[in-house]
Amino acid sequence: MNHPLETLPQLPADYFSLWQASLQWQPTMAQMEKFEQLYQIICIGNQHLNLTRLLAPAEFWEKHLWDSVAGLRPLHRWGFEQPGSKIIDIGTGGGFPGLPLAILYPDHHVTLLDSTQKKIQFLHDAVANLELNNVQGVAGRAEAIAHVPSHRAQYDIALIRAVASPPVCAEYALPYLKIGGIAVLYQGHWPEGEGDRLQSAAEQLGGTILAIESFATPITNSIRHCLYLQKIAPTPHRYPRTVGIPSKNPLI
Ligand code: SAH
Repeated sequence: MNHPLETLPQLPADYFSLWQASLQWQPTMAQMEKFEQLYQIICIGNQHLNLTRLLAPAEFWEKHLWDSVAGLRPLHRWGFEQPGSKIIDIGTGGGFPGLPLAILYPDHHVTLLDSTQKKIQFLHDAVANLELNNVQGVAGRAEAIAHVPSHRAQYDIALIRAVASPPVCAEYALPYLKIGGIAVLYQGHWPEGEGDRLQSAAEQLGGTILAIESFATPITNSIRHCLYLQKIAPTPHRYPRTVGIPSKNPLI
């Protein structure tokens, strides 16, 4: 889709009330403006990078903005509102869920990690255009960067959406957390009966399942799941395993 600047699509204003109705919360006008700007930056970036299939205003709002924010709301229960929290978004792609959260929480520090250098370069420019000073991009594989001392066990929250199956996401995410930190695995579909397998993987990595939440999205009423894992012990040094092994041979 090509969008000359003067005809960039806009997010309809009535989505403002949908935030309130669905999450009992709404962004400020300044945050809404940044969301709109982010939408337009993604539309332009998508002309040369494969960032997302979801570019119609309603899809973008629901599947990217709303979904990113909804997954983080339950964290309030566990007291993760303190300014200065360190958040990492693993396999961020076009910046989801990390970028909308960086817009909402300017006092938190957000690291966007992706294995594709071009996407990280795009995000670097996007962050400059959005005038966000709480975001850094890192290009690399989750399995490798998790062994770098400046990233291992450094984060309060690890987010991972649409990257791999839950046991693989657990192996990618838990090594990044401090003890007590929480990983949020955004999973569209969560088959009943998978909990034992995920709990077993989490335990091997020093984690445990804290909660599994389901949400209905406000426009298309699609069901989404978010799995919350807490780190309760250090992750053994052998995890994550070598690049490619977690997805080839997930923990059971
Ligand atoms: N989280 C985004 C993008 C999902 S697509 C969203 O929900 O819209 C999956 C992304 O994960 C891709 O950008 C891909 O480059 C990245 N990715 C896949 N495996 C990875 C790994 N092992 N380490 C880092 N990034 C990875």
